[in-house]
Amino acid sequence: MKLRSFNFIALAVILTTLALYPLILLVYCQGAEVNELERKLIDLDILRSTFIWYVENFYLVLLCATVGLLLIYLMSIRRKLKKLQITILFLVLSSQALALAYAGSNVSIHANEKLAFSMKPLVDRVIIVVFDGTGNDAFWKNVEFIKSMLPESCRAERAVTVYPTITYPAHTSLFTGTYPQVHGVKENVQRKLSVDDIFLVAAREGLKSMLVGGPFLKMFMRDIRIKVISGFFEPEDVYQRFIENVDKIRPSIIYLHFAAPDEVGHAFTTESPEYAAAIKRCDHLVKEIVDFIKRKGWSERTVVIVTADHGMYYNKHHNVYPPLVIETPLWIWGGVIRKNYTFAGCRIIDITATVCMLLGLPKPEQCQGIPVYDILSDEAIERMGMNRESIEEMRVSELKSAINWLFMENLFYGEISLLMTWIPLIILMLIIREIKKRRKLKETKQSLVVHEE
Ligand SMILES: [Zn+2]
Repeated sequence: MKLRSFNFIALAVILTTLALYPLILLVYCQGAEVNELERKLIDLDILRSTFIWYVENFYLVLLCATVGLLLIYLMSIRRKLKKLQITILFLVLSSQALALAYAGSNVSIHANEKLAFSMKPLVDRVIIVVFDGTGNDAFWKNVEFIKSMLPESCRAERAVTVYPTITYPAHTSLFTGTYPQVHGVKENVQRKLSVDDIFLVAAREGLKSMLVGGPFLKMFMRDIRIKVISGFFEPEDVYQRFIENVDKIRPSIIYLHFAAPDEVGHAFTTESPEYAAAIKRCDHLVKEIVDFIKRKGWSERTVVIVTADHGMYYNKHHNVYPPLVIETPLWIWGGVIRKNYTFAGCRIIDITATVCMLLGLPKPEQCQGIPVYDILSDEAIERMGMNRESIEEMRVSELKSAINWLFMENLFYGEISLLMTWIPLIILMLIIREIKKRRKLKETKQSLVVHEE
């Protein structure tokens, strides 16, 4: 292929991707059915996380490549700088500067306008159980008890956690209903939270919370009504402390953290029998929890939510290509929950909003999640003074709003990622063109010399 035609094709590819991407994205964001919209919401959320992962991980590499190639190019054209070349250079530099400024800044963005649902509590308490480091597939392969409960409960095809796919950021998102880019916890490092979480919102309404699990949970102890029982517990210890304290504390939100699958996964990999056994242990404890609630006669006024903070790929999950570790399980059981129902799924930040819906709490300030109304039984919906149709309408409108926000996010991160990738390529093309030109010039000169002789 001639160089000129190669350049032409490459340029066409670059410009086409930059121009077509927003259109493809826009078309993808359309939909009308609840399940279809839920699926798209998750896909768009995963896409967003993947772009952020790409920008954060490859920015430096591509920046170095760009600067290096640029220097080579400048050296090769120093004799005859043409206007066009200067313009191209200016464009290249300014777009990279723009990308750098963006990548370096923390974007704080609000999703859809706050959906002020204030309704009566549907239940007295919500128990959230997290299997640390348990991806959607690994979970459903090993939870015999939970599977046996499916006829009287509700599950998501898949849920999705946030990027970075690590414990503290994911938990903070689960409790605040915002992305790490908003709540600021991006590492496994404890820090002072600047946004509200469900426990604080509950405390303001006079409700108590009880959190049992790893020491990092102390981060959420921001009110006297929030009790944190923490230590390096085995799942059985977590269960034990829940049983011992639940009557004393009488909490409305109970959070139980089962760390074992994550620890075992890091040590033995997800392929090991040890990892499967750790998940099975947690599944067995869910059975204990459900039995305990039944014994207490709390079934009608309690909801149990089981999910995970992130998945695991072989023996790691930190900075792994997001689609490999970002899908998590979600299982919900309780008196007001629809029976034998599978919905397409939701984000971890939607679980926050759903807990608020169940307890009749306002969403935490800055919560970007939307409640999953689909999981409610017909009687519960009736109690809210609504019917299945009207609630579906509400769900569709909130899903559309959330998808619109994700469209904007993906547009931005996607175009940045494309630019980041193409710019070093453009400069490389310019260099090759320059080298070819020179070679031609040399050949012409040589042939002239031959002629003169
Ligand atoms: Zn974790």
